[in-house]
Amino acid sequence: MIHILGAGVAGLMLAEALERRGQSWRIYEKEAEAGLYASGKNAGIIRTYETDPVMRHFAEASLAYYRREEPSFNGRGLILRPWDVDYTVPPPETRQFSHGRFAGLFLPENGTVEPGDLLRRLTHQNFHKGEIRYGVDAVPEVDGRRVVGMGTGIQIPFMAKDRLVCACGEGSIALATLFNRPLGLIAHRRTLYEFRNEAHYDGPVEWDEETGVYYRPLGDRLLATGGEQIPVAGEAESEESAMAAQSSGDEKMLAILGRENPRLSSHLLVSTRTCKRLMPLDNRPYAGRDGYYENLFWFTGLGGRGVSTAPALAAALAGLLCGEPAGRELAALSAGRVDV
Ligand SMILES: Cc1cc2nc3c(=O)[nH]c(=O)nc-3n(C[C@H](O)[C@H](O)[C@H](O)COP(=O)(O)OP(=O)(O)OC[C@H]3O[C@@H](n4cnc5c(N)ncnc54)[C@H](O)[C@@H]3O)c2cc1C
Repeated sequence: MIHILGAGVAGLMLAEALERRGQSWRIYEKEAEAGLYASGKNAGIIRTYETDPVMRHFAEASLAYYRREEPSFNGRGLILRPWDVDYTVPPPETRQFSHGRFAGLFLPENGTVEPGDLLRRLTHQNFHKGEIRYGVDAVPEVDGRRVVGMGTGIQIPFMAKDRLVCACGEGSIALATLFNRPLGLIAHRRTLYEFRNEAHYDGPVEWDEETGVYYRPLGDRLLATGGEQIPVAGEAESEESAMAAQSSGDEKMLAILGRENPRLSSHLLVSTRTCKRLMPLDNRPYAGRDGYYENLFWFTGLGGRGVSTAPALAAALAGLLCGEPAGRELAALSAGRVDV
């Protein structure tokens, strides 16, 4: 049995991949529903441009998954105005941004998914090998180098072959502390801004790397995110306290968004949703074995590219959990690297 903590896009994609391999699994989600954190509050932009060849590998395979499997995928393309970065994806063509102020690389293969639709599909599948248990805030228990079960409110003893995968998003910081594992996870608070799409923009995703502003159309709305990337305290926090902490930065961010694009002016703002995204110090997620506990695995630290890469990361991790050797790319994401 593979026990998975967390029903975000990481845990759910892993469950789907294990299900396809006929491997028993069970997800424990501490909230009453899936996607209350980053997986339900992101822009749903699927992008493959990556300076890191390992992550490009997973992003390209994930894009193929979305094209094949996800009805809400829209290959609308993406215009990217790169920063001072040597992008390894060759620019097939350059296009003007919709506001005409600058041009960027046009990546026609990239696109968007609707996070709500994606979560609904992943949670409402006809599962044969596992189930999702909501409202379970289980605390792992260890003995020596093994996870032997989970307790507090629920008692789950582990059998000899059982393994635990932590796919807890921002909750992974608390778990890394509990396991006393130095994973070096950093949290950034990010906000999703929803604007009225008065100009009826229906073109590609537009992404300015230099300011970190990106936006996409969603019917009569434009979804945008952007602003400073400043590490914040990693503890999980309620929606209310996240919003309170964010509101002081909102004015500045809205000024940046509006300056870049009049379509993102603050008078068109409809709503904001804030949460954290989490990444390791080297900005490569953890997808693989723990470096100390024999039956502990991590699938976390997906940063700002979790939706773009989770399907292929999950498929590779499922292979490892089913006894296959880790390929070169997955091996680079092992949590054991922090002990080297
Ligand atoms: C504003 C914003 C915009 C973004 N836009 C994009 C984008 O356009 N494209 C893209 O690719 N990525 C984007 N991202 C990043 C992406 O959303 C994340 O990388 C991804 O959702 C992380 O998924 P996850 O499953 O690891 O974490 P989460 O979504 O945080 O899920 C973790 C789950 O674990 C549960 N949990 C935590 N602790 C425990 C515990 N102890 N026991 C049981 N359950 C627990 C939580 O309740 C939660 O449901 C964005 C992020 C933000 C914040």
